[in-house]
Amino acid sequence: MSSPSEELRKRGDALTERWRSFAAAPATDPLLEFAVAISSFTEFLHGRGLSGLHQMARSVEQQTLPLLDAAAGPPAAAALSELTLRVQELTQRVADYLETQNRPVIERRAQHDVSAAPELAPRQRVWLIGSSGAAWQALVLQLGYFNIDAQFHQIAHLPAQTDEPVIVLLNAGGTSVQQTTAHIQALRSRFSAITLLIHEFADDFDSLRGVLSAGADFCFPAGATPAQLLAKIIELGSHPQEEPYRALVVEDSLTASTSIQRTLAMIDVETQAIASPRQVLERLTQFQPDLILMDMFLPGCTGIEAARVIRQRPEFLSIPIVYLSGDTNIPMQVEALRLGGDHFLTKPYNPVVLNAVVQSKIERYRTLRRAMQRDSMTGLYNHSTSKEKLAAAIRQATGARRPLSVAMIDIDHFKKINDSYGHPMGDQVIRNLAWFLRQRLRKTDLIGRYGGEEFLVVLPTAAAPQAQALLDQIRQDFARIRHPFNETWCTATLSGGLVELRDDSTAETLIKQADEALYEAKRAGRNRIVSGS
Ligand code: GH3
Ligand code: MG
Ligand code: MG
Ligand code: MG
Repeated sequence: MSSPSEELRKRGDALTERWRSFAAAPATDPLLEFAVAISSFTEFLHGRGLSGLHQMARSVEQQTLPLLDAAAGPPAAAALSELTLRVQELTQRVADYLETQNRPVIERRAQHDVSAAPELAPRQRVWLIGSSGAAWQALVLQLGYFNIDAQFHQIAHLPAQTDEPVIVLLNAGGTSVQQTTAHIQALRSRFSAITLLIHEFADDFDSLRGVLSAGADFCFPAGATPAQLLAKIIELGSHPQEEPYRALVVEDSLTASTSIQRTLAMIDVETQAIASPRQVLERLTQFQPDLILMDMFLPGCTGIEAARVIRQRPEFLSIPIVYLSGDTNIPMQVEALRLGGDHFLTKPYNPVVLNAVVQSKIERYRTLRRAMQRDSMTGLYNHSTSKEKLAAAIRQATGARRPLSVAMIDIDHFKKINDSYGHPMGDQVIRNLAWFLRQRLRKTDLIGRYGGEEFLVVLPTAAAPQAQALLDQIRQDFARIRHPFNETWCTATLSGGLVELRDDSTAETLIKQADEALYEAKRAGRNRIVSGS
């Protein structure tokens, strides 16, 4: 797999290539290809949280799509030269951004203290702009515990030569809306990829609309607490583990299915195609797609009949089905939607629209599934999903002959926290530990909320000594967090039981052994990680 920067460069190059082809021969087909490319590039930037670049790409996309309207005639020269400028601006900013990202790692390290172990997630950086340091001291301290590096800056004295920070928090308190808007524009013109948060901002409709249009991503109302700021910053930094999107194409024409698969590949949707509807149930089980693209006329049956068969199975009740048909027969479309379909596209389809429909349907479906798999308080996998994911991780580790460590973590004397500060403070401590674990562990590690204040952590490729060192560091740092709540705060410690995968291990035995080791840690006095056998 290529690194995020390489991936961005590749996609930027592909976009430039499409633009050149179109500029050389401004006809319908190259335009359509460029439209698909800018559309998928926009989606990609959004997915990577590169907010500033995403805003620029979206505006190029918005100027491109109207040109596809054949009824409007060939694009006007003025519209084309405007678009040329926007595309150049965008590709230049992507290049600038890549330039800052690709400076030698040594140099970048020297600028920031990287005390974290190399296998930890890369350290995030937040800039706090426009307020006195004192006002943000509590927030900075908390960010530090979550391994997020906070730096103060004044808008007038931003460092000239620097890597882009990831998140900028701009304090707008005591500043007019016009001034804040100007600051936002200045920041956007300097930094392409930042997520821009505005703090202490007026929350009436017009002011909000104004700064959001100017390029802000999110505004906190006056009086937002450090805990709220912290929660947002951590949420932005912790991209939940996401598998690639998958779509199954049911289509008897090879030409049509190949073209659909090629189109969806541009937005990184993995596809498989089957020509016969009879294979559909088996393939759904094997491939586990997030969406079905269903041809309306298939050998021996209609797409509607195939959809009705699919909907007989409870596990496929909610998978989105999008029909494709060369026919614009309205009664048939209504019938198709009534009988278990979600959307209807007519052939020849517009690839930009196809991609947008598929993307949005899958996003909705994933959100729904996330709600079923995840614990709503922490966003971590829930009890039953944690166990399923552990079983899958064991299969993978065994297949690849790699080590795997499993830990059960439990907060110490948690009842006392509830009793002394109340249940809501208890909840906040649980959430903080969840965020903390997400922040400190790798993306490939699994974290589940196994019980009330008990967490299951699965560390693929980590042998016990490495896992022990990592969890011990986490344990020590967690104990230093002041968990703020209303006007007060508390501290908490945790204990953990750790085991490593053996040849005869199953999910059940590993959990049981980790539980036993946890019990040992509690008995030995708590605030420790014990390795079991
Ligand atoms: P130990 O060090 O032995 O773990 O002591 P403990 O007090 O933490 O004991 P135990 O783990 O057995 O107790 C967990 C308590 O956590 C019991 C329950 O009231 C509380 N709890 C469970 N789920 C939640 C929750 O979602 N929110 C809050 N605030 N409390 C919870
Ligand atoms: Mg057909
Ligand atoms: Mg406990
Ligand atoms: Mg417990």
